Amino acid sequence: MINVMQPSLGKEELENLEKTFKTNWLGKGPQVKEFESKFANHIGSKPENVITTNCCTEGLFIWPELFDLKEGDEVIVPTISFIGAGTSVCSHKLKMVLCDVDPRTLNARAEDIEKVLTPKTKAVLLLHYGGIPCDMDPIMELANKHRLVVIEDSAPGIWSKYKGKHLGTIGDMGMWSFDAMKILVCGAGAMLHFKDPTIRAKAEKLMYFGLETKSGYENSVAQKWWEFDISCFGHRAIMDDITATIALAQFDKLPEFLARRKYVHNFYNEKLKDLSWIDLPPELPEGCETSYYFYHIQVKNGQRDALAKHLRENGIYTTYRYFPLHRVPGFNANGVFPGADYAADNTLCLPLHQSLSDEDLNLIVQKIYEFGNKL
Ligand SMILES: *Cc1c(COP(=O)(O)O)cnc(C)c1O
Repeated sequence: MINVMQPSLGKEELENLEKTFKTNWLGKGPQVKEFESKFANHIGSKPENVITTNCCTEGLFIWPELFDLKEGDEVIVPTISFIGAGTSVCSHKLKMVLCDVDPRTLNARAEDIEKVLTPKTKAVLLLHYGGIPCDMDPIMELANKHRLVVIEDSAPGIWSKYKGKHLGTIGDMGMWSFDAMKILVCGAGAMLHFKDPTIRAKAEKLMYFGLETKSGYENSVAQKWWEFDISCFGHRAIMDDITATIALAQFDKLPEFLARRKYVHNFYNEKLKDLSWIDLPPELPEGCETSYYFYHIQVKNGQRDALAKHLRENGIYTTYRYFPLHRVPGFNANGVFPGADYAADNTLCLPLHQSLSDEDLNLIVQKIYEFGNKL
């Protein structure tokens, strides 16, 4: 089976692990610090603005507390969002207000957000679909006008930029995931970015039991070093050195991964452009860069499911991301979402990862043509 997504790991990760094993330090330590520092530099930020955690969903779950949201506050969430965006908002007893998205890019636009804005709206939890940037200028203008907190779920957008700025660094908080199906992978892990370093400091405590360190006393013989104090009721959501070791090896491979992903994207574009029954992914807006996380086509005339089935029968796995939250019964959402409905019913993500061979790519295209010839 040709996978739709797949990690690439090799001897570099193993060699790094061997070095870390020899230090006999497995917890959060120097490897995590190095990874945070390299990542901060990569996104044009500083170590005091970023922090690692154990998964990106942790980021989705802690922001309401970091930004002091209160029960009943309204949060706008595009209905095409990662499931954890919805479960986090609802678990905090915030009111999730879904908005529609652009049917082609699957990203929310300022006008989609504005339509559902009320005096109770406190925040927007944005998703950059597949690492393709939302149009942030009008969104930030709207957010500033209404004093909204802007959270960017840029989970796969590790290489994505909007007008020169890395995704995740434009809003008040951003996050990237390194789970097994992302681009840079380390098993499970994530990075969070905060525009305001004091919020980052708050996050650090909240993600480690709320522990207060009593500076100046730690090394004192008189101090009973087993005593401690807390400033909030925190989680335990930290990255460890084993994970960071893998992430560091992956980090060095990013340019190579991205080059191959771009090649795959362009290959599909070139080979599929003449098929009138398929809409290719929209062109990247001027001044933007992407991580090439998804290659999402839209199949016309209600043929999406049949194409997916045909490809699967021929050993090619495809999928659709993300199932709209308004169709998840547990959320009890109401409203009409024509853009998201079109997207959810017609979009198909083709295999896209750095290990796809030219042979795989030719087979995928051949099988798509084969399906088209029967239409
Ligand atoms: C993968 C993903 C997440 C969750 O990341 P984890 O690290 O697995 O918690 C969140 N949002 C989006 C858009 C994702 O693709």
